[in-house]
Amino acid sequence: MSDRYATFARSGPGRALVKRLGLPDPPSLRRHQPGDSLVTGPVLLDAAPGGRLREPVAALLTAAGVELRAPATLGADHDPTTAVSDHDPTTAVSDHDPTMVGADIEPTMVTADSATVVPEPSMGQPPRNAALIFDATGITDSTRLRPLYDFFHPHARALLPSGRVIVLGTPPELCAAPREATAQRALEGLTRSIGKEFGRGTTAQLVYVAPGAEGAVESTLRFLLSGRSAYVSGQVIRIGQPTDQQQPVDWERPLAGKVTLVTGAAQGIGAAIARVLARDGAHVVALDVPAAGEALAAVANEIRGTALQLDLTAADAPTRLAEHLAARHGRVDVVVHNAGITRDKTIGRMDATRWDSVLDVNLSSQERINDVLLARDLITAGGRLVGVSSIAGIAGNRGQTNYATSKAGVIGLVQSMAPVLAGRGITINAVAPGFIETNMTARMPTLLREAGRRMNSMAQGGRPVDVAETVAWFASPASGGVTGNIVRVCGQSLLGA
Ligand code: NAD
Repeated sequence: MSDRYATFARSGPGRALVKRLGLPDPPSLRRHQPGDSLVTGPVLLDAAPGGRLREPVAALLTAAGVELRAPATLGADHDPTTAVSDHDPTTAVSDHDPTMVGADIEPTMVTADSATVVPEPSMGQPPRNAALIFDATGITDSTRLRPLYDFFHPHARALLPSGRVIVLGTPPELCAAPREATAQRALEGLTRSIGKEFGRGTTAQLVYVAPGAEGAVESTLRFLLSGRSAYVSGQVIRIGQPTDQQQPVDWERPLAGKVTLVTGAAQGIGAAIARVLARDGAHVVALDVPAAGEALAAVANEIRGTALQLDLTAADAPTRLAEHLAARHGRVDVVVHNAGITRDKTIGRMDATRWDSVLDVNLSSQERINDVLLARDLITAGGRLVGVSSIAGIAGNRGQTNYATSKAGVIGLVQSMAPVLAGRGITINAVAPGFIETNMTARMPTLLREAGRRMNSMAQGGRPVDVAETVAWFASPASGGVTGNIVRVCGQSLLGA
């Protein structure tokens, strides 16, 4: 369903009215297209004294062709030349379009003798950057949080549209002392507030990287910097030691050779997930109920995948699915539990059938299928399980006790299974979509639908592809360090914030 308010607000007369009346102003979001560069301009990178991530991050971004800058005003012990990677800097060709940034920027010359991180010009207006990354892992006490202000204050207004803010920290639960854990926990307030303040499609995330997992951050940084994370903001992501052997990845087709299963793939979010996984190189087994057979076949044909008609609630569904995967492929590398239903009523008016069916499709069927696939060793080391939860599972929702219970259960499933599966080299994560423009949300009453669209930092609903891109990041062979995460794809919705 089209968002007519957003179309109007972006039109000539609409813009003026929106500004005058202070109405929600939904920006156009940069979304990834094949062949796009990672970022649309320079990335400003800095660290608090003692940070352990600036150097590995500088090295990987330079290798990815990103133009890196260091702030002109640096902390006392900050020397940008220490951020030199062992990567050959002559390959650090920038695809940045200088016409997009302030006129005061000197084109960055990256030569064999220069550092990979170039100080930004110190005169005049701050230059405009595509992203701001701050390594806060060196902050071990609340009295040392000031470098965050010093970094973000001068650059708050100098981000390009759809800018990216990433703060890197240490998971509080892994900090050596309570004071360090306190300071690291404080980072959450900063990033969530920046997500609400910066506007113009800017996203802000906090990425907690476990000590020793410095080499496992690339897939996450690529996802968060790119247009793939257009509708993901205000999230806290944890990266640990990879659960499996990291293999070199072709970033354009990271899933080449992988067999993936997507449930509920005939339409909406599931169809988008199937398309994005296929774009990334995977063979997709697209599953849906027999009643959706025609739409399912169309999706499967489009992506050269396989259509599998199966009702997940049937008693023999897990074994039939396992037999199909075993016979055709001998394994499954990525399982995306997307199928879901709503049967809304307040609990006092809800009959038991509505309760049972929602719990069974949305939660128990995921458990049954996982159990059978794992018991038969069809998912092995390097495997990826992805659940689809909902912000209703975090915030609760009037009229959705059954649905919210099932979606909170998906979060429980991820959190309880992550440590169990880590021993087998398998990750498990979930996306929690907010308001996504699909048939499910098109059926909502008009006023509720409008509220859902506007009550987030992007002032608009997300698209199925936004959820799909997040699933693809979890599914990547390079995401072995990403497990036990619940990532909301909700434009930083106020619900459950
Ligand atoms: P949708 O209704 O458009 O698609 C769901 C698909 O699941 C359908 O094709 C349906 O046939 C299939 N399905 C249902 N029961 C099944 C069963 N027993 N066996 C096999 N397939 C079955 O929904 P959507 O909006 O694309 O949502 C996809 C997922 O995202 C769901 O889990 C939903 O709860 C979740 N979600 C959606 C939103 C949103 O805003 N649309 C928000 C939060 C969470």
